[in-house]
Amino acid sequence: MMRVILGGTFDPVHWGHLRPAAAAREWLKADALHLLPSAQPPHRDYPGATAKQRLTMAQLAARELSCCQADDWELCQPRPSYTEQTLAELKRRWPDDTLVFLLGDDAFANLHSWHNWLQLTDNAHLVVMQRPDTSAGWSPEVLSFYQDRYATNPTDLKRRDSGLILLAPTPEVAISATAIRTAIASGEAWEHWLPLAVADFIKSQHLYR
Ligand code: ATP
Repeated sequence: MMRVILGGTFDPVHWGHLRPAAAAREWLKADALHLLPSAQPPHRDYPGATAKQRLTMAQLAARELSCCQADDWELCQPRPSYTEQTLAELKRRWPDDTLVFLLGDDAFANLHSWHNWLQLTDNAHLVVMQRPDTSAGWSPEVLSFYQDRYATNPTDLKRRDSGLILLAPTPEVAISATAIRTAIASGEAWEHWLPLAVADFIKSQHLYR
């Protein structure tokens, strides 16, 4: 089976993650979508949610989508969340499955700053979701990484287990976690940017105030 994995801090998870990810899963005809909250780098110094709260929000959000579940793998590891390492471990967990790691265009543009980035396609395909309002162009290294690996349609990803990069025609949703945290702190409207159950949880836990 094909498993699509969306990693992120999800602080909080929002429709900008969920709508494009659900659209990508359907477009790929993949069997499952996993929301994978990452352990937070220790230097993040704003008053964000705890790992447990971010996992709960991902679990609540997963209920809104079909074939979707939250996965606590990275939160349970006693190490920083390095995607390349996580994908190797997930491949050992599901050796017969094809893994697809989803990321936004802004994240892909910065791929060369990721730990062991040249090995990111060793155990998975990469699928890039469109993201509006991101001006970051791809660096020459990322462009050449893409040119060596690009696929042109979802069926290419079924022919081999890993190693390809595909740009997905996902809906552009102009929402970011930073904008949500800022809106909450300054008393602006924000609830429509995420599922109702997640908004209710944020309110009940007094998050991001
Ligand atoms: P922050 O605003 O704090 O940077 P974020 O909203 O970008 O957070 P992350 O949890 O860091 O959220 O992102 C996880 C993944 O989801 C990344 O690959 C990112 O590119 C992608 N992503 C986040 N928001 C969007 C969006 N609106 N459209 C497409 N992809 C997105």
